[in-house]
Amino acid sequence: MRPRATREQLEYVIGLLHENGLTSVSSTMADIVMLITEESVTPDIAATIEKAPGVDRVVVVPGTQRLTSRIFRPEDTRVQVGPAGGPVIGGPEFVVIAGPCAVESAPQMNSVADVVVASGAVVLRGGAFKPRTSPYSFQGLGLAGLTLLAEQRRRTGLPVVTEVVTADDVKCVAEESDMLQIGTRNMQNFDLLRAAGESGRPVLLKRGMSSTIEEWLLAAEYVMHVGNSSVVLCERGIRSYDRSTRFTLDLGAVAEAKRLTHLPVLVDPSHSTGRPHLVGPMSLAAASCGADGLLIDVHTDARNALCDGNQALSGEQFSTLMERLRPVVEAVGRTLARPRSQSLAQV
Ligand code: PEP
Ligand code: MN
Repeated sequence: MRPRATREQLEYVIGLLHENGLTSVSSTMADIVMLITEESVTPDIAATIEKAPGVDRVVVVPGTQRLTSRIFRPEDTRVQVGPAGGPVIGGPEFVVIAGPCAVESAPQMNSVADVVVASGAVVLRGGAFKPRTSPYSFQGLGLAGLTLLAEQRRRTGLPVVTEVVTADDVKCVAEESDMLQIGTRNMQNFDLLRAAGESGRPVLLKRGMSSTIEEWLLAAEYVMHVGNSSVVLCERGIRSYDRSTRFTLDLGAVAEAKRLTHLPVLVDPSHSTGRPHLVGPMSLAAASCGADGLLIDVHTDARNALCDGNQALSGEQFSTLMERLRPVVEAVGRTLARPRSQSLAQV
């Protein structure tokens, strides 16, 4: 519907759909109301609906995708993280998000935030609720971890992203962070997807480790369907027969996702490879194949890290990577995003 379409016009179109045997679901995105129907729309019906007052256009999207499809929206979606003036994912700038796998303590967060800011990361990551494979592994600091992360947001001026693992936690995580991460193990937790979407915060949606690209995009569809178009996809490796890397980084899926959807796509070279020496080469490869940015584990005392220390870059390794990344990012016609807000880098 056109942005200023009236309630009566909307009801008239819903009536038209019903008369033609089509069910409709309405969804609001920004100030635009969309009527989505599952049944196939014949050209005749499409023409009738298109002529109705208040209608902007009728888009027929083949396949299972709707809102995530490039056919529905040909131009790239840009996702703003944090307040205006902060990083935008999916635009001309290549965005690097970095930080520890898990928030462990105030001194750890001070130390890691300092090194990632100094090297030019523009968003800080850190897990407070950790979905661990084993119940005996460190489960994260929970609410206390969120508070420590929010402290870094104030101290550094960087927006923060953190994982949310249950729908019940969405509200408190959304209050303390700028972007909600949905992890690989929860990619098809549909209640969580809906709740994250309803929070209005941008959502960083990791690919399920055994999910097809179609399933990944349909998970994004759940978030968009409740009216949240700020979704950023993240390829983080899929399960393969080869155990020499932690997962198998599927860069072909990145290029293909960029073709199929208008949503930005990030790459996590840390969880996908599980090896610090592979993080650099895969970061450069990700920038080359069209990714919009990276999500990287950095720790200043990886040997004593409570989570995933064996894949984290040191501050020095991260700084070297950022230097190597710049010419590659520029070679593909983009620029490396730089911190713009009041941050330690400028102090
Ligand atoms: C993470 O980024 O902290 C994480 C747990 O990643 P994934 O869900 O991809 O395993
Ligand atoms: Mn991890």
